[in-house]
Amino acid sequence: MKLIILDRDGVINQDSDAFVKHPDEWIALPGSLQAIARLTQADWTVVVATNQSGLARGLFDMDTLTAIHTKMRRELAAAGGSVDAIFMCPHGPDDNCTCRKPRPGLFEQIGHRYDAELAGVPAVGDSLRDLQAAAAAGCSPWLVRTGNGGKTLAKGGLPESTRVCDDLSAVVDALLQDN
Ligand SMILES: [Mg+2]
Ligand SMILES: [Zn+2]
Repeated sequence: MKLIILDRDGVINQDSDAFVKHPDEWIALPGSLQAIARLTQADWTVVVATNQSGLARGLFDMDTLTAIHTKMRRELAAAGGSVDAIFMCPHGPDDNCTCRKPRPGLFEQIGHRYDAELAGVPAVGDSLRDLQAAAAAGCSPWLVRTGNGGKTLAKGGLPESTRVCDDLSAVVDALLQDN
């Protein structure tokens, strides 16, 4: 099984400092859905791992998040791709949960769900905490320059072995070339 773990905001869709709180605010990044479709068609299992502290902050509720993800899945299906599952941390930064990235809890949940060895599984993110969580879980961190990625790269301090690509499409180019 070829498993890949994607952050959502800033990797698949435009990120927003004001949070993505409504389906209308969920806007795919150029080429991201097509990139996921190429993974789907090459038999990759695509899973999303996303911090959604907007829930804890009361900015949106679970029904709205479900509606946002329904929009994502619908647009993705139209592009010929699919996401197998969405793993989400609903907590806030002060909740001290084990699932909010940079902690590796979401990744460990994914490992359990798929009974998969996480070593070497590519995990794509645009923020340092995505890469830190990925590395802590034994995944291979990939940084994209979309979303916060430019800032993340400029700040430095990335986990060793982080690979850097312009966007998800470039990550998929590299992965499909390697396999
Ligand atoms: Mg992000
Ligand atoms: Zn959490």
